[in-house]
Amino acid sequence: MHLNPYGEDAVNLAADLANRRPASAGELSERCRAAGLLVDRPVTRGDLEKTWATLDAWEKVVDATDEHERAELVNRMLAAAAAYPRLTDHAGDGWHLHYRGEWQPFGSVLFSLISVGTALHLAGRGMHRLRRCAVTECATIFADTSRTGRQRYCSQRCANRDAVRRHRARTAP
Ligand SMILES: [Zn+2]
Ligand SMILES: [Zn+2]
Repeated sequence: MHLNPYGEDAVNLAADLANRRPASAGELSERCRAAGLLVDRPVTRGDLEKTWATLDAWEKVVDATDEHERAELVNRMLAAAAAYPRLTDHAGDGWHLHYRGEWQPFGSVLFSLISVGTALHLAGRGMHRLRRCAVTECATIFADTSRTGRQRYCSQRCANRDAVRRHRARTAP
């Protein structure tokens, strides 16, 4: 996973992990790898617990009600991340930035990645582009990377569900 200028992959990974929390260190490792993240160090129970705490903090960012509160919560995460960007060409396919110190455990690497990725996404695409699905009983989190920035549902399925419901409400006797 290369941290692109809009942090898209990192913020999507955060949403995926928050929506369905990993239950074991092995699962965390697998899902990060499947999302394209370089897992270059062991993933332990401690890293899993650190990730749960990261996701708790991150969900507060998602649920922030105004953009100043949201910015403040992201800034707190960034301040605690304590990682500086490093240039790397580890795969030989081009120089890019990593937010990981050689000494850091995986949970800290992931915390930095999610903090920086979320900041890039909000700054680059818009402070409002992180939310939960508009279908009340769904509550799935998503990063809005649509062209218009007006995505309200996590999926087409939820959009359809809500359209049917609104139609029924209008035509009810
Ligand atoms: Zn890389
Ligand atoms: Zn939904």
